[in-house]
Amino acid sequence: MNTQQFIEIEEKYGAHNYHPLDVIIERAEGVWVYDVEGRKYLDCLSAYSAVNQGHVHPRILEAMLAQAKKVTLTSRAFRNDQLPLFYKELSEFTGYEMSLPMNSGAEAVESAVKLARKWAYRVKGVPRHQAEIITASGNFHGRTTTIVSFSTEALYRDDFGPFTPGFVTVPYGDSAAIEKAITPNTAAVMLEPIQGEAGVIIPPAGYLAKVAEICKKNNVLFIADEIQTGLCRTGKIFASFHEGVRPDMITVGKALSGGFYPISAVLADAAILGLFTPGEHGSTFGGNPLAAAIGRASIAVLRDENLAGRAAELGAYFVEQLSEIPSRHVKEVRGQGLLIGVELHPAAGGARRFCEALKTRGILAKETHDHVIRFAPPLVIGKDTIDWALPAIREVLQMA
Ligand SMILES: *Cc1c(COP(=O)(O)O)cnc(C)c1O
Repeated sequence: MNTQQFIEIEEKYGAHNYHPLDVIIERAEGVWVYDVEGRKYLDCLSAYSAVNQGHVHPRILEAMLAQAKKVTLTSRAFRNDQLPLFYKELSEFTGYEMSLPMNSGAEAVESAVKLARKWAYRVKGVPRHQAEIITASGNFHGRTTTIVSFSTEALYRDDFGPFTPGFVTVPYGDSAAIEKAITPNTAAVMLEPIQGEAGVIIPPAGYLAKVAEICKKNNVLFIADEIQTGLCRTGKIFASFHEGVRPDMITVGKALSGGFYPISAVLADAAILGLFTPGEHGSTFGGNPLAAAIGRASIAVLRDENLAGRAAELGAYFVEQLSEIPSRHVKEVRGQGLLIGVELHPAAGGARRFCEALKTRGILAKETHDHVIRFAPPLVIGKDTIDWALPAIREVLQMA
């Protein structure tokens, strides 16, 4: 079957909740993906940073295959021999005492919301069912009904109410607004250190540190959603660490499996994560032995291949080179590590046509909102590959 035939079947039988580029990928390796027509592309999206380790990383593949032959799912009704080691290795890698395993990123966020509320009632003494969580405009934390309740994006929420109460919105990047929004009932502030989905929005320097300080002063938890920014993408294990911030809770997902499997988690110390008691929260697949084995290998690759260091070094180089491309369309190039956004002027006619043009030159990037092209290749990318891509990117940014 050719590309067009696959597209027709997909459009006929599948829900139309995405607008993908028309490339049908059939296999991938490292930073490269291959389509059904035999064409090869550089993946500059990395499945929204889920494949930081590169596609089909051999070490993770091997762990997955070996575990799949032994036992894949026990449910948490019984224990398994992978989950304890996953907990321990995740703790050693991230510096958090405990973790709670889930599947999708949205579930990790939901779990963090529940945990923050429980902490508010049991530790802080907020009157039951009065807890508030402060979130930022432009946020993206997932797609469940509770999470879209605090989205500020009309497309994500307008047709999906009624909404879950208990969330307060402040402008992103404004720490004074957070301080003003805190009440005695505030349980937590939840933020993305960089807003990936909003278009790689980097807050003013010092923002995260200031927010963390405000939270501490007011006995409010600081939750960082690092599902996209975490696990080495921005040049450190967590983007919060760039400002010396250690959030009370971190949500992770995406690259926690290197793209093999949906694995997410909430990270926190025992004083917080220890609050859950049996039966209060759970997931049939969360913490299953296949996921735990894949998670262990994924962490090992991040660590052993120094992917944080690579992201820092190559990201700085990529941003510098992109910034030097003369183009009347480009408003700003910004990035941290290998999470890079090229924002176009509104007159450029939208980022989509640039992504289409990149595709014909063998580069897959995706528009974020209307005017930003995100460049976020797997962290195993080499400088030589960036150098290969730059002339093509230059050509596209200089088109009419
Ligand atoms: C992708 C993402 C999520 C949601 O993860 P899913 O696995 O799609 O549910 C949440 N927060 C951030 C910051 C994300 O980038």
